[in-house]
Amino acid sequence: MNFNCVFSDCNYKQNNIKEEEFLKHLREEHHNELESIAKKEEIPINMAEMITVSNSKVFINSP
Ligand SMILES: [Zn+2]
Repeated sequence: MNFNCVFSDCNYKQNNIKEEEFLKHLREEHHNELESIAKKEEIPINMAEMITVSNSKVFINSP
């Protein structure tokens, strides 16, 4: 999968990585953002992670 991190102040972008690798990035770099999404949307943090992962997926190769 290709990922382009959905958080606007983050430049993380990787092609051909596994979802788990992106998840690792989220947990290391965006724990606070994920917590505030979970709180705001009243959803469990793992659901906030899943949504962020799917929003960060890129389906075409970007240069
Ligand atoms: Zn990021």
